[in-house]
Amino acid sequence: MINTLTPTEFPNPDEFEPLDFLVVAPHPDDAEIGMGGTIMRMIDQGMRVGVLDLTSGEPTPQGSMETRIRETAAATAVMKLTWRGNAGLVNRALENTIEARVRIASYIRCLRPRWLFAPYHHDAHPDHLAATLLTEAARFQAKLSKTDMPGPRHHPERLYYYFCIHLRLAVQPAWIVDISDQWERKMAAVRAFESQMITGRPTTPPTLIDRIRHEGEHWGRLINRTHGEPFDTKEPLAMSSLRDLL
Ligand SMILES: [Zn+2]
Repeated sequence: MINTLTPTEFPNPDEFEPLDFLVVAPHPDDAEIGMGGTIMRMIDQGMRVGVLDLTSGEPTPQGSMETRIRETAAATAVMKLTWRGNAGLVNRALENTIEARVRIASYIRCLRPRWLFAPYHHDAHPDHLAATLLTEAARFQAKLSKTDMPGPRHHPERLYYYFCIHLRLAVQPAWIVDISDQWERKMAAVRAFESQMITGRPTTPPTLIDRIRHEGEHWGRLINRTHGEPFDTKEPLAMSSLRDLL
């Protein structure tokens, strides 16, 4: 589906094959920064992956709606997402309201992801904190019966957290994914948001792009790979095998 930043229609659940996982992002670019490499690694392995941006992300100092639409489409094409949509909620004013919760739950019921990914639950940006709370609430809301929400009742089995934080935290992730093979494509998807990552930003190292690269190298070094992405979980990880542990 082509991304736009206007509210996306709910997919018809009778025609839409369920997603393996859905990444809920406060703004277009957060999914790319936080877990773009993991998204592409799982798509490389045949999974169906969607991104639901909650807001347009605009206004920003260097951006515009037209620019952000173009940049989001470019990043979506790099990642080869199965589905991307925008919930049409208001940037800089995201709140855990019942209306917003029902809207996100409606996407969950129509897309039927097995897992959800939400922003890490500790951040400086109020939109990011609201996105975390909204995703947690919408996960529960999506399984309710006797409602007028579209789609069948659905409860994603797991909710995990990715890091797209505005705090300089020394975080202790629950696990790290090896994204060495996806690294260059991740950075292409991140750079697609030129108005956010490059234009008007300080050019003295470390630039914002440098910082993202250093983080990828840092997490990679901890698992003896070139690049990695960290994740957190509140519930224990369930494994059928230890074979994929590095
Ligand atoms: Zn954001």
